[in-house]
Amino acid sequence: MKEQGDYQIIPIIVDVPTNLKTINFYLIKRNHSLVLVDAGLDTDDCWYALHRTLSENNFSLQDITEIVLTHNHGDHVGLVNRITSLQPIPIYAHKDAIPRLKRDNSFFEMRVDFFAELYKEMGCGDAGDKQVSYLRKAVLKGSKNAIHSEIAPIGSSHLRFKIMHVPGHAPDHIALYDETDHILISGDVLLHHISSNALIEPDISGHRMPTLIQHKQSIEGILALSVNLVYPGHGILIDEPERLIKARLASIERKAARLKDLIQDGISTGAELAKHYYKNLYDTQFSLVMSEIIGHLDYLENEKQINRVKIDGIWHYRINN
Ligand SMILES: [Zn+2]
Repeated sequence: MKEQGDYQIIPIIVDVPTNLKTINFYLIKRNHSLVLVDAGLDTDDCWYALHRTLSENNFSLQDITEIVLTHNHGDHVGLVNRITSLQPIPIYAHKDAIPRLKRDNSFFEMRVDFFAELYKEMGCGDAGDKQVSYLRKAVLKGSKNAIHSEIAPIGSSHLRFKIMHVPGHAPDHIALYDETDHILISGDVLLHHISSNALIEPDISGHRMPTLIQHKQSIEGILALSVNLVYPGHGILIDEPERLIKARLASIERKAARLKDLIQDGISTGAELAKHYYKNLYDTQFSLVMSEIIGHLDYLENEKQINRVKIDGIWHYRINN
């Protein structure tokens, strides 16, 4: 347990057998409030870890006063329904997380159409069709994961934290920043052992967001803050994150430069670039790979290093001379 000024952050850390290493969520004790930031996976491991941490600190589930969610992903919101079915408490998240957390059907149907169009324009062929049919089935099954309780949009400050909107990994991603002690509860914006993926997503009205550019701006914003300590959503706590952020920024530049070399060699569509860059990962981790490629293409285009033309419905990228 760490004690800052007038509050304590109590981590709940659950080992997982994936490259995430751990699922981390946090209790913040301040005066009469006990806030849960994120809610792990919907597993018994996470549920027992929450109870164990509560009882080790002489609390019970009934002492939790509210839940704040850093973003909509399933490994951050898993226990919300279990908790609120026993203890109806307010839930706060970024406003754009709400249709996603409520599994709003029309939003998710729009989202499937968005990916169908995107993968077609990127020249993905069968691999794209396969992913789209997976997404279509997931919409039908997904409603059982909907958050039951009302979710309130979080304001620009909460408790004693400044709420930073840090989109990129997720469009609704927020981080909680203590401006006095320079402490950041970061969700998945910054992880120590893996780089956080900027996942391609439509916005609420179906437009594609430049997620890698957003992610880059988000971590540059964190770099400007001189943060002392980061409490991330996975892996170990991060002391003085400057070096890590600079390494992440350098890796974006490196990837973009390699992609530009491939375009220079005449490889022009998103799908062909993905196959050349990621080889067999194109088949095994299709959506992640396409997010990385499209994100870096957006970045190069935004930097005016490349441009694109549509031929027979497919984007072709070219070097700017
Ligand atoms: Zn996430």
